[in-house]
Amino acid sequence: MTNIALAIHGGCGVMAKLDLSEAEWAGARADLASALKAGWAILSSGGSSLDAVEAAVVVMEDSPHFNAGYGAALNEHGIHELDASIMDGSSLAAGAVCASRAIRNPIKAARAVMEKGDAVLLNGPAADRFAEVAGLATEPQTYFTTERRLIALAAMKAHVARGTSASAKEAEKHGTVGAVALDATGHLAAATSTGGYNNKPDGRIGDSPIIGAGTYARDGVCAVSGTGKGEVFIRHVVGHEIASRMAYLGEDLKTASDKVIHEDLKRHNAGAGLVAVGADGSIVAPYNTDGMFRGWVTSNGDVFVGTHDKVFQLPGLAR
Ligand code: ASP
Repeated sequence: MTNIALAIHGGCGVMAKLDLSEAEWAGARADLASALKAGWAILSSGGSSLDAVEAAVVVMEDSPHFNAGYGAALNEHGIHELDASIMDGSSLAAGAVCASRAIRNPIKAARAVMEKGDAVLLNGPAADRFAEVAGLATEPQTYFTTERRLIALAAMKAHVARGTSASAKEAEKHGTVGAVALDATGHLAAATSTGGYNNKPDGRIGDSPIIGAGTYARDGVCAVSGTGKGEVFIRHVVGHEIASRMAYLGEDLKTASDKVIHEDLKRHNAGAGLVAVGADGSIVAPYNTDGMFRGWVTSNGDVFVGTHDKVFQLPGLAR
């Protein structure tokens, strides 16, 4: 049997363990599990890695626990501007949207941009119009807003007023969702979606919609989806960097990913994490913060989810 594999993240800006109730942590883990199930259902029935990563990301965009879609972060003006991208490792086709203020599931719009094929990245109002024409759901800004994000914005503005932004916790700043997969035909795919970071400047675009930085997939090498300080991911072209280290230096997935997260990005004091899957079905999920919402399904259907150090093994999924 050929290997298939799926890994997801819900951002590395997790809260301190005591910031959320046990019920909220369990809710986040349950939504990670639902995202894995959605993706795995596609992979295990012979579907494509592209469909699997999109399906997994949609579940997390619809969850209030993660910074993407419903429950996304607010910018400095209290507005949601959403970024997302998707990449097909078999053809290197890719699609992305950025600074969308209305698309309910930005990852679906990214996929539609990719399928249309005359652009890789659409921005702002044009991305919103494109989604409407493509028949995708759009929402008023109020749909995306949760109480947690309003509190986080107020907290960050208070940090700015006191001049203590540098000491703000990772959880107050950012988060993202993403998925990577290998399908039974050997194709890799990656998808990432985010609200960016809390109190971000108007019009700021992060790494998540930038192919090669926050999202990258190349058959025969790896698929990568990142989370963390987007500016540093862009400058290090993280997804492409990991693929290049593997392709040119012959490093394995773990060595290449650890080097980037624990050395290159750490050096900038940048909170960062990623999930990646290799062409052989190997899975890594490194992070240099206190934790990262994450989960994966191994080739034989073993399911794992975690937020901090502890990883929970859930009932396995059929292959
Ligand atoms: N990478 C995202 C961005 O910079 C945020 C995050 O993952 O925390 O927009």
